[in-house]
Amino acid sequence: MSLKCVQCGLKFPLYPPKNKCEKCGGALQYEINLPKSRKIKFFGKLRFWRYRSLLPPIENIVSLGEGGTPLHKAERLAERLGLRELYLKDETRNPTNSFRDRAAALLTSNAIDLKHDTIICATNGNLGASLAAYSAKAGLICHVIVPKFVDVGKLAQMLVYDAVIEEFGETVDDSIGRAEALADETGWYQATAELNPLVIEAQKTIAYEVYEQFGVPDWFIVSMGGGGTTYSIWKGFKELKQLGITKSLPKMIGVQPEGCAPIVKTLVQDRSEPIKIAKPFTRALAVLVANPIQGELAIKAIKESEGLTLTVSDSEIFTAELQIAKLEGIFAEPASSATIATLKKLVKDGNISKNDSIVCLITGSGLKATDILQALTKKQKTAGIGLEISTKEKILRILSRKDTYGYDLWKKLGKTMTRSAIYQHLNKLSEKGLIAGYAKNGKKFFKITQRGKKVLHAIDDLKLLM
Ligand SMILES: [Zn+2]
Repeated sequence: MSLKCVQCGLKFPLYPPKNKCEKCGGALQYEINLPKSRKIKFFGKLRFWRYRSLLPPIENIVSLGEGGTPLHKAERLAERLGLRELYLKDETRNPTNSFRDRAAALLTSNAIDLKHDTIICATNGNLGASLAAYSAKAGLICHVIVPKFVDVGKLAQMLVYDAVIEEFGETVDDSIGRAEALADETGWYQATAELNPLVIEAQKTIAYEVYEQFGVPDWFIVSMGGGGTTYSIWKGFKELKQLGITKSLPKMIGVQPEGCAPIVKTLVQDRSEPIKIAKPFTRALAVLVANPIQGELAIKAIKESEGLTLTVSDSEIFTAELQIAKLEGIFAEPASSATIATLKKLVKDGNISKNDSIVCLITGSGLKATDILQALTKKQKTAGIGLEISTKEKILRILSRKDTYGYDLWKKLGKTMTRSAIYQHLNKLSEKGLIAGYAKNGKKFFKITQRGKKVLHAIDDLKLLM
């Protein structure tokens, strides 16, 4: 393992984990240097520390049981999008409900190894919540610098885990500057994602896990804020290939919200200097970064992998968020939901084909986000306007799962109406061509028609607008 400048190749001591080359200003990265032939040993269950041999050396391990998160096969969502193999890497299942717990485990462990008693980070929310929890576990003091707009759930976590919280700046870009200056002044351990290359090492384990759970997908979709996560996943897969464990690599897709897309713009316009966004806006606060320090790394990952990049609107993000929840039972934060919004566009445009395998990274839980909570309470207040489900819709829904006969439908609907009323509904639905009857085992069975399915989808889409 070495810590090396990506531009000039100059090597640095492994610790403290510096982020910038003193000679040329390039980014510093950890590099594993194991020969291909050497067999890698993974330790124990599918958990973060299983990959210890592929991480920079750590002595004192701090853990709350991070990693080993499920990779769900999203069958209903895939069917809706016309895909065969769609997976959601569910990082909401980490101890503080985001992927940043991996980074927090490694950073607090390293801080203990290096005999620090205080750590500092600038954060949009998830990293601050994670570090606050892990610092509590390790007995470290945790200083968190947050910008003006932070999701309330994340702030609540920082408060309850007893972090020292300071608000600084409009976006996290300002907060990062403040955290850098404070660490220089005080000697505190620098745990800001953009300023500590160990974060990339921690997040790359997501790629290792996906490999062990599924293999190498054709596409891997990640939401980009600072850009580091996209690069981390790419680095993880590249290492598996370097080590001779895998043969192929995924194509990386990096997505940003329309109102804050500096990395996408830089890449699409093929600029050598990163584009800065003067007035960034998105309700997906986890990716509200105007001047991403690790944007270049994300661009490198997308280019090397021959991947894609694009933007989605906030409304597309929120529609996707509700769809993931309704169809797959996963409550993803807006930033993560952008991956599904992107996938929809790419399938529609023919960039991703039906037979491709896809993994979307669900980085954090929707329970942390401010906007979705507000939107849902608003929805509750206006309930009744079109949200009441009609009996015909209920029948379509039941039949979309499984064919059945009249009496069974009556039972499934809770026997709340007369059986003749059910048959009247069935007749109407048949007349409209939404269901069709057929005989089986001496009973009249009903099935939903293609037209019926279309109507059901249209109803779902309408509900998402409310
Ligand atoms: Zn250098």
